[in-house]
Amino acid sequence: MKVFKFGGASVKDAAGVRNLERIVRLEGAHDLMVVVSAMSKTTNALERVVEYCAAGQEDKALNQWIDIIDFHVAIMKELGLQPGSDIRLQGEIPFDPALPYDENYDQIVSMGELLSTQIIAVYLLKQGLSVEWWNMPKLLRTDNTWREAKVDNETSRTVIRAGWDRSNRPSVVIAQGFIGGTADGKRTTLGREGSDYTAALLGNYLDAESVTIWKDVPGILNADPRIEPDTVLIPSLRYQDAVELSYSGAQIIHPKTIRPLENKQIPLFVKPFGDPLAAGSRIAADGVGPIDVPVYIWRKNQILITMRAKDFAFVLEESLSEIFDIIHRHRLKVSLIQSSAVTISVCVDNTRFVPEAIEALQVHFNVSYNDHLSLLTIRGTTPDILERAKAGRTIMLSQTTRRTARLVVKELNADN
Ligand code: ASP
Ligand code: MG
Repeated sequence: MKVFKFGGASVKDAAGVRNLERIVRLEGAHDLMVVVSAMSKTTNALERVVEYCAAGQEDKALNQWIDIIDFHVAIMKELGLQPGSDIRLQGEIPFDPALPYDENYDQIVSMGELLSTQIIAVYLLKQGLSVEWWNMPKLLRTDNTWREAKVDNETSRTVIRAGWDRSNRPSVVIAQGFIGGTADGKRTTLGREGSDYTAALLGNYLDAESVTIWKDVPGILNADPRIEPDTVLIPSLRYQDAVELSYSGAQIIHPKTIRPLENKQIPLFVKPFGDPLAAGSRIAADGVGPIDVPVYIWRKNQILITMRAKDFAFVLEESLSEIFDIIHRHRLKVSLIQSSAVTISVCVDNTRFVPEAIEALQVHFNVSYNDHLSLLTIRGTTPDILERAKAGRTIMLSQTTRRTARLVVKELNADN
Protein backbone atom coordinates (compact mmCIF):
# COMPACT_ATOMS: atom_id res chain seq x y z
CA MET A 1 0.00 0.00 0.00
CA LYS A 2 1.01 3.63 -0.39
CA VAL A 3 0.23 6.80 1.52
CA PHE A 4 -0.49 10.05 -0.33
CA LYS A 5 -0.74 13.38 1.47
CA PHE A 6 -2.37 16.47 -0.01
CA GLY A 7 -2.01 19.88 1.66
CA GLY A 8 -4.34 22.84 1.78
CA ALA A 9 -2.52 24.67 -1.00
CA SER A 10 -3.31 21.74 -3.30
CA VAL A 11 -6.93 21.14 -2.33
CA LYS A 12 -7.74 24.84 -2.32
CA ASP A 13 -10.68 24.72 -4.74
CA ALA A 14 -12.81 22.40 -6.88
CA ALA A 15 -10.07 22.14 -9.52
CA GLY A 16 -7.69 20.96 -6.81
CA VAL A 17 -10.10 18.22 -5.75
CA ARG A 18 -10.46 17.09 -9.37
CA ASN A 19 -6.69 17.00 -9.71
CA LEU A 20 -6.49 14.89 -6.56
CA GLU A 21 -8.89 12.48 -8.22
CA ARG A 22 -6.67 12.38 -11.29
CA ILE A 23 -3.60 11.58 -9.19
CA VAL A 24 -5.47 8.85 -7.28
CA ARG A 25 -6.58 7.32 -10.60
CA LEU A 26 -3.05 7.50 -12.02
CA GLU A 27 -2.07 5.32 -9.08
CA GLY A 28 -4.78 2.83 -10.05
CA ALA A 29 -7.06 4.00 -7.20
CA HIS A 30 -5.91 0.94 -5.35
CA ASP A 31 -4.53 0.22 -1.87
CA LEU A 32 -4.19 3.91 -1.15
CA MET A 33 -4.34 5.82 2.10
CA VAL A 34 -5.04 9.46 1.27
CA VAL A 35 -4.29 12.01 3.99
CA VAL A 36 -5.72 15.48 3.49
CA SER A 37 -5.32 18.86 5.24
CA ALA A 38 -7.91 21.60 5.54
CA MET A 39 -8.70 23.38 2.27
CA SER A 40 -6.72 26.49 1.45
CA LYS A 41 -6.39 28.86 4.43
CA THR A 42 -9.23 27.31 6.43
CA THR A 43 -7.05 26.52 9.46
CA ASN A 44 -6.07 30.19 9.81
CA ALA A 45 -9.72 31.22 9.46
CA LEU A 46 -10.76 28.73 12.15
CA GLU A 47 -8.05 30.09 14.44
CA ARG A 48 -9.71 33.48 14.10
CA VAL A 49 -13.04 31.92 15.06
CA VAL A 50 -11.46 30.64 18.27
CA GLU A 51 -9.96 34.04 19.03
CA TYR A 52 -13.28 35.83 18.51
CA CYS A 53 -15.16 33.30 20.62
CA ALA A 54 -12.66 33.56 23.45
CA ALA A 55 -12.83 37.36 23.30
CA GLY A 56 -16.62 37.25 23.52
CA GLN A 57 -16.97 38.74 20.01
CA GLU A 58 -19.81 36.47 19.00
CA ASP A 59 -20.86 38.37 15.89
CA LYS A 60 -17.38 38.34 14.44
CA ALA A 61 -16.98 34.67 15.30
CA LEU A 62 -20.24 33.78 13.60
CA ASN A 63 -19.45 35.84 10.49
CA GLN A 64 -16.08 34.16 10.14
CA TRP A 65 -17.71 30.76 10.68
CA ILE A 66 -20.31 31.47 8.00
CA ASP A 67 -17.57 32.57 5.59
CA ILE A 68 -15.84 29.24 6.14
CA ILE A 69 -19.06 27.29 5.54
CA ASP A 70 -19.85 29.36 2.44
CA PHE A 71 -16.39 28.74 1.04
CA HIS A 72 -16.88 24.98 1.38
CA VAL A 73 -20.45 25.09 0.08
CA ALA A 74 -19.25 26.84 -3.07
CA ILE A 75 -16.66 24.11 -3.67
CA MET A 76 -19.24 21.37 -3.04
CA LYS A 77 -21.63 22.90 -5.58
CA GLU A 78 -18.89 23.22 -8.16
CA LEU A 79 -18.17 19.53 -7.63
CA GLY A 80 -21.84 18.66 -8.10
CA LEU A 81 -22.46 17.78 -4.45
CA GLN A 82 -25.49 18.69 -2.39
CA PRO A 83 -24.50 20.60 0.74
CA GLY A 84 -26.70 19.54 3.61
CA SER A 85 -27.67 16.15 2.23
CA ASP A 86 -24.36 14.79 0.89
CA ILE A 87 -22.47 16.40 3.71
CA ARG A 88 -23.75 17.41 7.11
CA LEU A 89 -22.75 20.99 7.91
CA GLN A 90 -22.38 22.01 11.50
CA GLY A 91 -24.33 25.23 12.10
CA GLU A 92 -23.07 25.86 15.58
CA ILE A 93 -19.53 26.65 16.62
CA PRO A 94 -18.32 23.97 19.05
CA PHE A 95 -17.17 26.51 21.65
CA ASP A 96 -17.62 26.03 25.37
CA PRO A 97 -16.66 29.05 27.48
CA ALA A 98 -16.15 26.78 30.49
CA LEU A 99 -13.22 25.02 28.78
CA PRO A 100 -9.63 26.23 28.45
CA TYR A 101 -8.71 28.16 25.30
CA ASP A 102 -6.49 25.43 23.90
CA GLU A 103 -9.12 22.74 24.35
CA ASN A 104 -11.67 24.86 22.49
CA TYR A 105 -9.04 25.49 19.84
CA ASP A 106 -8.74 21.79 19.09
CA GLN A 107 -12.50 21.23 18.95
CA ILE A 108 -12.96 24.12 16.50
CA VAL A 109 -9.81 24.03 14.37
CA SER A 110 -10.16 20.29 13.68
CA MET A 111 -13.33 21.09 11.71
CA GLY A 112 -11.21 22.15 8.72
CA GLU A 113 -9.89 18.66 8.09
CA LEU A 114 -13.24 17.04 8.87
CA LEU A 115 -14.88 19.19 6.21
CA SER A 116 -12.23 18.81 3.51
CA THR A 117 -12.08 15.02 3.85
CA GLN A 118 -15.86 14.61 3.77
CA ILE A 119 -16.11 16.66 0.61
CA ILE A 120 -13.32 14.71 -1.06
CA ALA A 121 -14.62 11.30 0.05
CA VAL A 122 -18.17 11.97 -1.15
CA TYR A 123 -16.90 13.43 -4.40
CA LEU A 124 -14.67 10.43 -5.15
CA LEU A 125 -17.49 8.07 -4.26
CA LYS A 126 -19.77 9.84 -6.73
CA GLN A 127 -17.06 9.55 -9.34
CA GLY A 128 -17.34 5.80 -8.96
CA LEU A 129 -14.27 5.06 -6.83
CA SER A 130 -14.31 2.58 -3.99
CA VAL A 131 -13.79 4.93 -1.04
CA GLU A 132 -14.08 5.02 2.72
CA TRP A 133 -13.91 8.07 5.00
CA TRP A 134 -12.03 7.65 8.24
CA ASN A 135 -12.67 9.71 11.34
CA MET A 136 -9.18 10.16 12.76
CA PRO A 137 -10.26 11.54 16.15
CA LYS A 138 -11.56 8.02 16.80
CA LEU A 139 -8.55 6.22 15.30
CA LEU A 140 -5.42 8.22 16.01
CA ARG A 141 -5.24 8.15 19.79
CA THR A 142 -3.45 11.02 21.54
CA ASP A 143 -3.08 12.49 25.01
CA ASN A 144 -4.75 15.81 25.81
CA THR A 145 -1.82 18.14 25.26
CA TRP A 146 -4.13 20.47 23.34
CA ARG A 147 -2.67 21.96 20.17
CA GLU A 148 0.39 19.71 20.39
CA ALA A 149 -1.08 16.35 21.23
CA LYS A 150 1.28 13.41 21.70
CA VAL A 151 0.33 10.32 19.73
CA ASP A 152 -0.14 6.98 21.51
CA ASN A 153 1.48 4.85 18.83
CA GLU A 154 0.64 1.49 20.31
CA THR A 155 -3.12 2.06 20.53
CA SER A 156 -3.25 3.93 17.24
CA ARG A 157 -1.29 1.27 15.38
CA THR A 158 -3.57 -1.53 16.61
CA VAL A 159 -6.78 0.30 15.74
CA ILE A 160 -5.57 1.56 12.38
CA ARG A 161 -4.12 -1.77 11.29
CA ALA A 162 -7.35 -3.52 12.19
CA GLY A 163 -9.27 -1.00 10.09
CA TRP A 164 -6.92 -1.36 7.17
CA ASP A 165 -6.67 -5.16 7.21
CA ARG A 166 -10.44 -5.74 7.07
CA SER A 167 -11.31 -7.91 4.10
CA ASN A 168 -14.17 -5.64 3.04
CA ARG A 169 -12.12 -2.43 3.08
CA PRO A 170 -12.61 -0.24 -0.02
CA SER A 171 -9.56 0.52 -2.20
CA VAL A 172 -9.09 4.11 -1.15
CA VAL A 173 -9.26 5.48 2.38
CA ILE A 174 -9.58 9.23 2.96
CA ALA A 175 -8.25 10.37 6.35
CA GLN A 176 -7.66 13.71 8.02
CA GLY A 177 -4.13 14.83 8.65
CA PHE A 178 -3.25 16.92 11.70
CA ILE A 179 -6.02 15.70 14.02
CA GLY A 180 -6.54 12.88 16.49
CA GLY A 181 -8.54 12.26 19.62
CA THR A 182 -8.30 11.36 23.29
CA ALA A 183 -9.55 8.20 24.95
CA ASP A 184 -12.57 10.15 26.23
CA GLY A 185 -13.59 11.27 22.76
CA LYS A 186 -12.22 14.82 22.53
CA ARG A 187 -10.66 16.00 19.29
CA THR A 188 -7.01 17.07 19.38
CA THR A 189 -4.53 18.64 16.96
CA LEU A 190 -0.88 17.73 16.46
CA GLY A 191 0.60 21.19 15.87
CA ARG A 192 0.37 23.45 12.83
CA GLU A 193 1.35 21.84 9.54
CA GLY A 194 1.03 18.44 11.22
CA SER A 195 -0.57 16.58 8.30
CA ASP A 196 2.78 15.40 6.97
CA TYR A 197 3.40 13.84 10.35
CA THR A 198 0.07 12.00 10.20
CA ALA A 199 0.99 10.64 6.77
CA ALA A 200 4.33 9.40 8.12
CA LEU A 201 2.68 7.72 11.12
CA LEU A 202 0.15 5.94 8.89
CA GLY A 203 2.96 4.84 6.60
CA ASN A 204 4.79 3.44 9.61
CA TYR A 205 1.73 1.65 11.08
CA LEU A 206 0.75 0.11 7.77
CA ASP A 207 4.27 -0.70 6.53
CA ALA A 208 3.71 1.38 3.42
CA GLU A 209 5.78 0.81 0.33
CA SER A 210 6.23 4.60 0.19
CA VAL A 211 4.75 7.90 1.37
CA THR A 212 4.24 10.75 -1.09
CA ILE A 213 3.67 14.38 -0.12
CA TRP A 214 2.11 16.29 -3.02
CA LYS A 215 3.16 19.94 -2.98
CA ASP A 216 2.85 23.11 -5.00
CA VAL A 217 6.60 23.01 -5.77
CA PRO A 218 8.53 20.61 -8.04
CA GLY A 219 10.07 18.79 -5.05
CA ILE A 220 12.71 19.71 -2.52
CA LEU A 221 14.49 22.81 -3.72
CA ASN A 222 17.72 24.30 -2.40
CA ALA A 223 15.94 27.57 -1.55
CA ASP A 224 12.49 29.11 -1.39
CA PRO A 225 11.72 30.11 -4.99
CA ARG A 226 9.77 33.12 -3.68
CA ILE A 227 13.04 34.47 -2.19
CA GLU A 228 15.96 33.16 -4.22
CA PRO A 229 15.83 33.56 -8.00
CA ASP A 230 17.90 30.51 -9.01
CA THR A 231 16.64 27.44 -7.24
CA VAL A 232 17.53 23.88 -8.13
CA LEU A 233 15.68 20.66 -7.41
CA ILE A 234 17.40 18.12 -5.14
CA PRO A 235 16.28 14.80 -6.65
CA SER A 236 17.64 12.47 -4.01
CA LEU A 237 18.37 12.98 -0.29
CA ARG A 238 19.24 10.90 2.74
CA TYR A 239 16.91 10.91 5.74
CA GLN A 240 19.52 12.69 7.87
CA ASP A 241 19.86 15.57 5.41
CA ALA A 242 16.08 15.93 5.21
CA VAL A 243 15.87 16.10 9.01
CA GLU A 244 18.47 18.84 9.08
CA LEU A 245 16.64 20.78 6.41
CA SER A 246 13.32 20.65 8.19
CA TYR A 247 14.88 21.40 11.57
CA SER A 248 16.54 24.50 10.14
CA GLY A 249 13.11 25.71 9.11
CA ALA A 250 12.64 24.47 5.55
CA GLN A 251 8.87 24.64 5.15
CA ILE A 252 8.77 21.72 2.80
CA ILE A 253 8.28 18.92 5.31
CA HIS A 254 7.25 18.94 8.94
CA PRO A 255 10.24 18.12 11.20
CA LYS A 256 8.50 15.14 12.82
CA THR A 257 7.87 13.45 9.48
CA ILE A 258 11.15 11.70 8.91
CA ARG A 259 11.55 9.57 12.03
CA PRO A 260 8.52 7.26 11.62
CA LEU A 261 9.64 6.62 8.04
CA GLU A 262 13.31 6.17 8.81
CA ASN A 263 12.41 3.64 11.52
CA LYS A 264 10.85 1.41 8.89
CA GLN A 265 13.06 2.47 5.98
CA ILE A 266 10.07 3.74 4.02
CA PRO A 267 11.00 6.14 1.20
CA LEU A 268 9.37 9.57 1.17
CA PHE A 269 8.60 11.28 -2.13
CA VAL A 270 7.89 14.99 -2.49
CA LYS A 271 6.15 15.56 -5.80
CA PRO A 272 4.49 18.40 -7.69
CA PHE A 273 0.71 18.38 -7.44
CA GLY A 274 0.50 20.18 -10.78
CA ASP A 275 2.70 17.68 -12.63
CA PRO A 276 2.08 14.24 -11.15
CA LEU A 277 4.29 12.32 -13.57
CA ALA A 278 7.41 14.34 -12.65
CA ALA A 279 9.94 12.55 -10.48
CA GLY A 280 10.12 15.13 -7.69
CA SER A 281 12.44 14.34 -4.79
CA ARG A 282 13.05 11.02 -3.08
CA ILE A 283 14.22 10.79 0.53
CA ALA A 284 15.53 7.44 1.68
CA ALA A 285 18.37 5.65 3.46
CA ASP A 286 20.12 5.13 0.13
CA GLY A 287 19.63 8.75 -0.95
CA VAL A 288 22.48 10.81 -2.33
CA GLY A 289 24.39 12.78 0.29
CA PRO A 290 25.63 15.09 1.52
CA ILE A 291 23.64 17.58 -0.54
CA ASP A 292 26.06 19.05 -3.07
CA VAL A 293 24.49 22.46 -3.74
CA PRO A 294 24.28 25.36 -1.29
CA VAL A 295 20.96 25.24 0.56
CA TYR A 296 19.25 28.34 1.96
CA ILE A 297 16.70 27.91 4.71
CA TRP A 298 14.77 30.71 6.34
CA ARG A 299 13.20 30.30 9.73
CA LYS A 300 10.95 33.28 10.31
CA ASN A 301 9.43 34.92 13.39
CA GLN A 302 12.40 34.43 15.70
CA ILE A 303 13.22 36.15 18.96
CA LEU A 304 16.74 36.34 20.37
CA ILE A 305 16.74 36.21 24.17
CA THR A 306 19.95 37.09 26.01
CA MET A 307 20.46 36.28 29.67
CA ARG A 308 23.06 37.73 31.98
CA ALA A 309 23.43 36.59 35.58
CA LYS A 310 22.23 39.20 38.04
CA ASP A 311 25.26 39.06 40.34
CA PHE A 312 27.88 38.57 37.62
CA ALA A 313 28.77 35.22 39.15
CA PHE A 314 27.84 33.45 35.98
CA VAL A 315 28.31 29.75 36.28
CA LEU A 316 27.50 28.41 32.88
CA GLU A 317 26.78 24.82 33.82
CA GLU A 318 24.33 25.71 36.56
CA SER A 319 22.64 28.42 34.56
CA LEU A 320 22.26 26.18 31.56
CA SER A 321 20.17 23.61 33.33
CA GLU A 322 17.91 26.25 34.85
CA ILE A 323 17.50 28.07 31.54
CA PHE A 324 16.70 24.92 29.63
CA ASP A 325 14.30 23.76 32.24
CA ILE A 326 12.33 26.98 31.79
CA ILE A 327 12.57 26.73 28.01
CA HIS A 328 11.27 23.18 28.08
CA ARG A 329 8.42 23.94 30.47
CA HIS A 330 7.23 26.80 28.26
CA ARG A 331 7.41 24.71 25.08
CA LEU A 332 9.87 27.06 23.39
CA LYS A 333 11.51 25.77 20.22
CA VAL A 334 15.21 26.62 20.22
CA SER A 335 16.78 27.30 16.84
CA LEU A 336 20.25 28.47 17.96
CA ILE A 337 22.33 28.88 21.13
CA GLN A 338 25.36 31.06 21.78
CA SER A 339 27.26 31.67 25.01
CA SER A 340 29.98 34.02 26.18
CA ALA A 341 31.72 34.38 29.55
CA VAL A 342 28.82 36.24 31.11
CA THR A 343 25.85 35.77 28.82
CA ILE A 344 23.90 33.12 27.07
CA SER A 345 21.67 33.82 24.09
CA VAL A 346 19.01 31.59 22.64
CA CYS A 347 17.12 32.13 19.45
CA VAL A 348 13.61 30.67 19.63
CA ASP A 349 10.40 30.68 17.60
CA ASN A 350 8.41 33.68 18.77
CA THR A 351 5.29 31.88 19.97
CA ARG A 352 2.57 32.84 22.42
CA PHE A 353 4.54 31.06 25.17
CA VAL A 354 7.50 33.47 25.00
CA PRO A 355 6.27 36.27 27.33
CA GLU A 356 5.73 33.90 30.25
CA ALA A 357 9.07 32.21 29.67
CA ILE A 358 10.81 35.59 29.74
CA GLU A 359 9.07 36.38 33.00
CA ALA A 360 10.33 33.13 34.49
CA LEU A 361 13.86 33.78 33.25
CA GLN A 362 13.83 37.26 34.79
CA VAL A 363 13.74 35.77 38.28
CA HIS A 364 17.42 34.89 38.12
CA PHE A 365 18.76 36.68 35.08
CA ASN A 366 18.82 40.07 33.49
CA VAL A 367 17.01 39.37 30.28
CA SER A 368 17.01 41.37 27.09
CA TYR A 369 15.54 40.42 23.75
CA ASN A 370 15.21 41.35 20.10
CA ASP A 371 12.23 40.28 18.04
CA HIS A 372 11.22 40.56 14.36
CA LEU A 373 14.17 38.39 13.46
CA SER A 374 14.74 35.57 11.01
CA LEU A 375 17.30 32.81 11.11
CA LEU A 376 18.99 32.10 7.80
CA THR A 377 20.85 28.80 7.62
CA ILE A 378 23.11 28.24 4.64
CA ARG A 379 24.42 24.71 4.20
CA GLY A 380 27.32 24.22 1.86
CA THR A 381 28.32 27.86 2.13
CA THR A 382 31.46 29.51 0.75
CA PRO A 383 32.96 32.89 1.73
CA ASP A 384 31.43 34.34 -1.44
CA ILE A 385 27.96 33.06 -0.73
CA LEU A 386 28.18 34.32 2.84
CA GLU A 387 29.18 37.82 1.75
CA ARG A 388 26.27 37.98 -0.65
CA ALA A 389 23.85 36.76 2.02
CA LYS A 390 25.03 39.37 4.50
CA ALA A 391 24.91 42.29 2.10
CA GLY A 392 22.31 44.88 3.01
CA ARG A 393 21.13 43.01 6.09
CA THR A 394 21.40 43.76 9.79
CA ILE A 395 23.09 40.75 11.35
CA MET A 396 22.31 40.28 15.03
CA LEU A 397 24.42 37.20 15.48
CA SER A 398 26.27 34.76 13.27
CA GLN A 399 27.66 31.28 13.72
CA THR A 400 29.74 29.77 11.00
CA THR A 401 31.60 26.56 10.50
CA ARG A 402 33.47 25.62 7.37
CA ARG A 403 30.37 24.43 5.55
CA THR A 404 27.44 25.96 7.40
CA ALA A 405 26.54 29.54 8.21
CA ARG A 406 23.73 30.60 10.50
CA LEU A 407 22.74 34.23 10.57
CA VAL A 408 20.19 35.85 12.83
CA VAL A 409 19.00 38.84 10.83
CA LYS A 410 16.51 41.66 11.26
CA GLU A 411 13.45 41.11 9.15
CA LEU A 412 13.51 43.53 6.24
CA ASN A 413 10.08 44.91 6.93
CA ALA A 414 10.57 45.14 10.71
CA ASP A 415 9.78 48.65 11.85
CA ASN A 416 11.77 48.68 15.09
N1 ASP B 1 -4.37 22.31 8.27
C1 ASP B 1 -3.29 22.28 9.23
C2 ASP B 1 -2.49 23.56 9.15
O1 ASP B 1 -2.74 24.35 8.27
C3 ASP B 1 -2.43 21.08 9.11
C4 ASP B 1 -1.62 20.99 7.84
O2 ASP B 1 -1.87 21.70 6.89
O3 ASP B 1 -0.69 20.20 7.80
O4 ASP B 1 -1.64 23.77 9.97
MG1 MG C 1 -1.21 23.22 5.42
